[in-house]
Amino acid sequence: MDLFEYQGKQFFAQYGIATSPGGVADTVDDAVAVAETVGYPAVIKAQVQVGGRGKAGGIKIVNNSDEAKSQAGNILGMDIKGHLVKRVWVEHASDIEKEYYASFTLDRAAKMHLAMVSAKGGVEIEEVAVTDPQAIVRHHVNPLDGITLTEARNIAIQAGIDEPAIEGVGEILVKLYNAFVKGDADLVEINPLILTPAHKVHALDAKVTLDDAAAFRHPEWEDYRATQEYDGREKLAKERGLNYIGLDGNVGIIANGAGLAMSTLDVVNQVGGQAANFLDLGGGADANTMTSALEVINTDHNVNSVLVNVFGGITRCDLIAHGIIEALSRVELKAPLVIRLDGTNAQEAREIIEPYVSDKLIIRPTMLDAARTAVNLANGGVEK
Ligand code: GDP
Ligand code: MG
Repeated sequence: MDLFEYQGKQFFAQYGIATSPGGVADTVDDAVAVAETVGYPAVIKAQVQVGGRGKAGGIKIVNNSDEAKSQAGNILGMDIKGHLVKRVWVEHASDIEKEYYASFTLDRAAKMHLAMVSAKGGVEIEEVAVTDPQAIVRHHVNPLDGITLTEARNIAIQAGIDEPAIEGVGEILVKLYNAFVKGDADLVEINPLILTPAHKVHALDAKVTLDDAAAFRHPEWEDYRATQEYDGREKLAKERGLNYIGLDGNVGIIANGAGLAMSTLDVVNQVGGQAANFLDLGGGADANTMTSALEVINTDHNVNSVLVNVFGGITRCDLIAHGIIEALSRVELKAPLVIRLDGTNAQEAREIIEPYVSDKLIIRPTMLDAARTAVNLANGGVEK
């Protein structure tokens, strides 16, 4: 479960991580009231679960009640990357000397916790990872040992954190690790973690993902759950009985069997693409299931191509091919479909689809070919 920034800050507060005084507001009047309480300058921040709110105009500094009123009015109801702003967080604005980055996640491959710290905070860390990977220090923490203040300070030094901030960043790292472990989080991230001109270090933003598997020992998470916003795609998929997980890429995926669906995501990734979803049709992929799958994928505006990867075992490919053709007569295709069918009666299946082939309905012989084609189309390429 992902928390909103204000919830992340409440979560941090339980572990002694310093943030600015503030409050949430759902209306312009409430936002102004909070700003009056915390004092000007205040910052009004859109509460949506998406990064880059600042750049999108969802974060504004205000110096008096008139400005608070007009900016809260602008931000409430704003659409940020498809997320409607229903609530703002208002806090006393900080003076910033430097912006840093700090996070803990689980590194499954290394079977360790991973600290990431950078003196280049404020901007999106994915961007720093691409343009200046050296600027991010990665440090594994053995979960059996935890992290000491000395170790935390050393990470800060290695990351090039400025001298006056070393102690403060070290202390926050220890607290953040504690929050990560005791709070049962999958991710805790502070970006930016700031140094003020008065040489105080504190968190200006909070990104927290809680580990749903630990929910049973956290009755207090109910408060967070009450405000969760479910992905519209996932909601529809659930109604249609599909095994679907929404992702951020632009290649829609339809596969039969969870294992094949996972491999399909891997292959799309391998050829440089990004999947828009995980979707397992399950065993009997008939026209109804295929129709539902296409309808769900049609609601995803990021999708530029759809990769249908089916292996016919007990369910024969020719039946699936009929299902696809029937589904296409019911649903309008919003993005080209690239189909790979293999297994029992694959040849018959291809012959069934052949008459319908067009630039919006493409068949490819292998999973790799199909993935390449789908990724190329998704990125604006042309296929024949
Ligand atoms: P994000 O864009 O969604 O990650 O939102 P953040 O909370 O990280 O804020 C984005 C940027 O807004 C920060 O990196 C700061 O540069 C700026 N900002 C946020 N709060 C304050 C504040 O209290 N004072 C000042 N001066 N800038 C702020
Ligand atoms: Mg941020």
